[in-house]
Amino acid sequence: MSQKFAIFGNPVAHSKSPQMQNAGLKHINYDGIYEKHHLENGNEIKEVFLKNNYKGANITVPHKEFAYENADEIRGLAKEIKAVNTYILEDGKVIAYNTDAPGFLKAIESFGEVKNVLLLGAGGTAKAIALALKSKDINVTVLNRSENKLDFFKENEINYFSWENFKPEIYDLVVNSTSAGLKDEYLPCPKEILENILKNASFAFDCIYGKITPFLALARENNCEIKDGEDMLLFQGVLAFEYFTNSKADESLIEAMRKGLKEE
Ligand code: NDP
Repeated sequence: MSQKFAIFGNPVAHSKSPQMQNAGLKHINYDGIYEKHHLENGNEIKEVFLKNNYKGANITVPHKEFAYENADEIRGLAKEIKAVNTYILEDGKVIAYNTDAPGFLKAIESFGEVKNVLLLGAGGTAKAIALALKSKDINVTVLNRSENKLDFFKENEINYFSWENFKPEIYDLVVNSTSAGLKDEYLPCPKEILENILKNASFAFDCIYGKITPFLALARENNCEIKDGEDMLLFQGVLAFEYFTNSKADESLIEAMRKGLKEE
């Protein structure tokens, strides 16, 4: 029987997950289809998932926390992140995972060993990244524009600052997990703070993909090795795909999914 998968979001029209996941399904000759599902009310996510007979789903903005609240069982680091991006149906139960966190770790592997990270931003993505790094015993400091999203990091014993009270150290990797640079040309924090940090750093990673953001441009000017968020998007998708299809991804599958992601 053909299986159905979906991505839930609001908005969801821009999502590249269907082209990436369908390329993967095609590559392994899996009888299934992955579609976009616009969802208004995040509290209905489990009900809608079951009613549509989905075998698996991804969840994007703004429903990741609702998806966490509504799942029957949460597995892995998602229990601490308290937000999930993947649902699978297992024996009639909705099982939830967060693949953004391991996807990020996989994406920064190409930098080699990293010990001390400055993470710009404190939104949903920052929570997943901070706990992913902590799980690998990598030192992480969060720096955010405002104070109001910092409680989560305090509760999880992660160093945190706002722009107002920041006391910089030396970091080998700087990560932009803010939305600054996505649809505008802003830096994720004031240039006078950022430039000094980048001068002493080796690597810069931006969660935004498909463009050189002002953050990556400044990092490059300061001789950092830079990387955008494409691999993070790819690897969260690959890990979700493994759960969806109960299979192990090999290099040829990963490349097929990357090609799918890049299709216009
Ligand atoms: P959230 O809305 O949860 O958080 C946004 C964060 O950005 C907040 O900390 C906010 O600070 C900060 N921010 C927004 N605008 C500015 C600005 N002009 N200057 C400085 N800080 C700013 O977003 P998400 O965590 O969901 O997503 C963050 C980014 O990560 C997005 O660009 C998204 O596209 C990208 N992303 C990439 C993924 C990938 O796979 N590559 C996966 C998921 C997300 P404040 O608290 O002060 O408002």
